[in-house]
Formats: sequence, structure tokens, C-alpha cells
Amino acid sequence: MSVDAPKVPVKFTVKDYKSDLHNDWCPGCGDFGILTGIQMALAQLNLDPDKVAVFSGIGCSGKTPHYIKAYGFHTLHGRVLPVATGGRLVNSGVTVLALGGDGDGYGIGAGYFVNTGRRNLDFAYLVHNNNVYGLTKGQASPTLSKGKKTKSMPEQAIQDGINPIAMAVAAGYTFIARAYALEPKYLAGIIARAIQHKGSAVVDVLQTCPTYNDLYTKEWYEGQDLPEKRSRLYKLEDQGFDGKVHDPTDAKEIIAKKAAAVARSYEAEPIPIGVYYEIELPTYEDAVNQRIPALAEKPLVEVDVFNRDVTPLLEAMR
Ligand code: SF4
Ligand code: MG
Repeated sequence: MSVDAPKVPVKFTVKDYKSDLHNDWCPGCGDFGILTGIQMALAQLNLDPDKVAVFSGIGCSGKTPHYIKAYGFHTLHGRVLPVATGGRLVNSGVTVLALGGDGDGYGIGAGYFVNTGRRNLDFAYLVHNNNVYGLTKGQASPTLSKGKKTKSMPEQAIQDGINPIAMAVAAGYTFIARAYALEPKYLAGIIARAIQHKGSAVVDVLQTCPTYNDLYTKEWYEGQDLPEKRSRLYKLEDQGFDGKVHDPTDAKEIIAKKAAAVARSYEAEPIPIGVYYEIELPTYEDAVNQRIPALAEKPLVEVDVFNRDVTPLLEAMR
């Protein structure tokens, strides 16, 4: 008679989320810090790589899923959110991460960015924000401010930059944060919170692009050019800022917290990082499951769609 051996709990480490594909990002790119932050967060949460799905748009950041050992889907320019939405809705058994650049998500994908925020699907979206379109040689992205000129631009930008945090607040995201690529430990903590948040989380990650953006460099963020040599970043929690809505039924508290988040998001120097806004609200999946209770019992991905009798449907349509 054989006796089943007791199951030993598995502890995943950062190594378990590393793929062996060759990485072709430029040396010193901030994307490396973001990749490390994601892998550290997955290890912190001890998520089985088989239960993680990473979606990306197009750009240097779009290659990120290639370097993570988990399920990956490299989609089209600006289209990561609709594809990740599909992934989220058909398979409730996986953690869904969406990734993209600032050009990808706040430019061509801006409509999806806004409308995804309205839905409050349970996933995390990380934006690699380096103020340029890195993959196509450094044109100004939607986050570069008016009057700025990187080394890859012939002249100064004549359009104003957008404010992603304010846009996320207006769209309805329920967890809104900002972090910095070259502080992967802090970034990992924010990503872990974004993943754990039940609802749509967005993290705008300030990222250096040493190849095309000579304005917002590692040295600039560190404030090495300032007489006092202080960082151009500060952590919201260090100033006692609390972006969490403690009573989601209190409209006054919601408005006050949203207004405070937007006000902080306009601070240019030093730039606040951390959690700007957080609220627990019913998700889109909750509403879908209420309307179609069968989906709550079994995710769509497990439904046998190949052996279905569609006769009753055809009869109903006669
Ligand atoms: Fe990174 Fe910029 Fe090189 Fe792209 S172009 S890999 S963002 S340094
Ligand atoms: Mg970019």
C-alpha cells in the first residue's frame, strides 16, 4: 500500500521567473530595473510562474514578457489593454500583468487606457515612462513637456506633455501609483501591491533611456547637478500622504482623495513616487459573474467550446 507523500510548499525565487532568452536592451537601460522589479514582486508573492500571464504592447518595453518565465503575449502597438482584458475575462485562474511604454499606452493606446480604467478589471498595468519612443529612435512621447528637447530631437517639443496620474484618476483606476525603475526594491513593493489590489491598478514607472533621453538620466534623478545633490524624487508616505479611501461609500472622502492625488501629480520637482490613490470597489468580473453565474463556477477557458450542441440556439433564431 502506498501512502501519498505530504505536499511540500514551494517557495519560488527571482530565478524562477527568468527566461534564458537573449536580452537586447541597450546597456544601462531602465527597463532592466523594471524587469527585476517585476521578478522580485512575483517572488515576494510566491506566484507560480504557470499562473502568471504577462501581456505587452510594442516598443522596447514590449520585449519584457520574452525575459520573464511565465505565459507571455507580445501584442500590437497601443493594444495591450484590450488583449489583457480578454486574458483576464477568460481565465480567472491567472495573475494578469500588462506592460507597455508611455508612447504605446498614453499615445496610440490612450483611448484604451481611459476605457480600461472605467471597468475596474482585476489586473495590473505597468507603464515604462521614459518620455521618448525608444524603439523608433527617440521621438518625443506624450509625457515629454513643452519646450524640452532630448538629444534625438532636432528641435524643442511644441506640444504639452500629458499627466498620466491625473488621467488615471479621471478614468477610474482603483490603484494608482508611480515608481522609479532604478529603485527596483521599492518598485517591487509597489508592483506587489498593484498585483494584490483587487481591481485595475496602474503604475507609472519613471524609466531612464540612456540612448535617447539625455534630460532625465540616472544622474538627473539623483540630483547630481543640484548644489545640495538631493534626489529629485520623494516618497509620498515619507510626507504622511495617505491615498487610500477608507470608506468607499463616502463620496466626500473619494473626491478629497482624488483631488489630493491630482494635486500631488502636478508637483514637478521633487517628483512624488508611491501610491497616489487606492479604493476597493466591485470589479468588472464581479458584475459579469452576477449576470452570467455559470462563469463564476468555471472560467471560460475551461469550457469545452468544440463539442457544443448549437441546435437550440439556431432554433431560437428561426
Ligand atoms: Fe532602453 Fe532606450 Fe535602449 Fe530602448 S532605446 S532599450 S528604452 S535605452
Ligand atoms: Mg517610451
